[in-house]
Amino acid sequence: MVFAFPQFFTQRTRFLAYTVVATALQRAGHTLTEDLERCDAVLFSMCDVMEYPQLVRLRRSTGRPLIVGGSYAYHFRSAILYADGVWVGECYEMAACRTLEELLGHPSCYTGGPDLPRASTLIRWEEVPVCQTAPHKAYYWGGQGCKGKCSFCVTSWTHPHQVNSRARIQAAKAEAARRGLHLMVCSNEYDDGGGGRTQDMLLRDYLQVPIRRGCWVRVGVEFATELSRRQAGKPISDREMEAAIEKAARERVSLRMFHIGGWDLREDWEAYIDRLAGYLDHYRPGSMVHLMYNNLQYQQYTPLYRRRREIDPERYLTIQDTRRWFDRLRAATPHVLVGAPSPFQHVAARMGVELARTREQADFWRPGLRDSRRWTVQEAYDALFATGVLDAPPLRLDLSTGQITEEREGESDGGDEAADRPGGGQGREAPDAG
Ligand code: SF4
Repeated sequence: MVFAFPQFFTQRTRFLAYTVVATALQRAGHTLTEDLERCDAVLFSMCDVMEYPQLVRLRRSTGRPLIVGGSYAYHFRSAILYADGVWVGECYEMAACRTLEELLGHPSCYTGGPDLPRASTLIRWEEVPVCQTAPHKAYYWGGQGCKGKCSFCVTSWTHPHQVNSRARIQAAKAEAARRGLHLMVCSNEYDDGGGGRTQDMLLRDYLQVPIRRGCWVRVGVEFATELSRRQAGKPISDREMEAAIEKAARERVSLRMFHIGGWDLREDWEAYIDRLAGYLDHYRPGSMVHLMYNNLQYQQYTPLYRRRREIDPERYLTIQDTRRWFDRLRAATPHVLVGAPSPFQHVAARMGVELARTREQADFWRPGLRDSRRWTVQEAYDALFATGVLDAPPLRLDLSTGQITEEREGESDGGDEAADRPGGGQGREAPDAG
């Protein structure tokens, strides 16, 4: 088949995903073009909801069948609103399709009918390329999914945990070194310290293995208290947090720590920052400690999504919070950065588009992706209920078969649903969905 895949030719961001898809299609004998009309189908690889406006523009610019793939395809009810087909999962089974009819009729391709798709999980690791994205930078897939199952994490509930072989990763590293490239091996975690100069690790794994001086280690801490971390994320204790700061200072390793606002109480965060300031003051790390903040997005597939109607804007963190914390931590060490989270309205817009099942819903929320200040916090909160997007039922993906099903409200698959909300149900009463 001839596929128009304009992103592969014109955009540099997410170049790795485009190259993986393009390599798989070309090896299977298909041809790629930029021509949106002289092709069997147009492909759009979508990682994130922020690309939704591009999808809408692409829909308007071609009359050929449009097929969406990429991570966003798991939100197939939203993606199909501006496409003819949504390929859910990995690209290798798609590449094996010989005709457009075969592709659109495949169980992993959602076309809007009553049958829910089966996510394609087949990865041909031997075909995954080392992808150079800049003069001295390259990426390579080390794994998919995650051995963890954090209750807010859509990746781990949509992707079975698969890893590339150690031999192939070593070969990729050798190839990158030969070409003078800094190689980033993409994976959700490593436990052996062998992932390169920037490594994603579980904090507990980081405590177990020595890391070379000068490396960056990225760990998810997520929540402010031991209780929240145990209930909704990873059971990291305050003592382990302190040990991580001590080890990073001793090894001169930079730490990037990811946090999620919107769940814990504000006073819990203040106490967290106080504790951290104490560790920094005591151990005086000579390399960077970078705190990153996101605000919680309730997403289908995750156990936490069942709590979506408890969303409480008063718990969402703001740039004023993170600025204040930066000043406080800077008093302990100059080697600290604190990133600001997106405002509540932006998170609401993201949820609104992802959960949309009608064009009316998608079109209401879409402008808020770029201009979230068009609503007040209260307006955005009210609209989450009034537009009906929170009525989208939870989705479940069977990690052994890839089959997606809809969960009826009140039903549970026995996943590790978060226990009672920390702070004791102080979220607002949800108004009736309109
Ligand atoms: S948040 Fe990180 S550790 Fe937790 S399941 Fe997701 S990828 Fe794994």
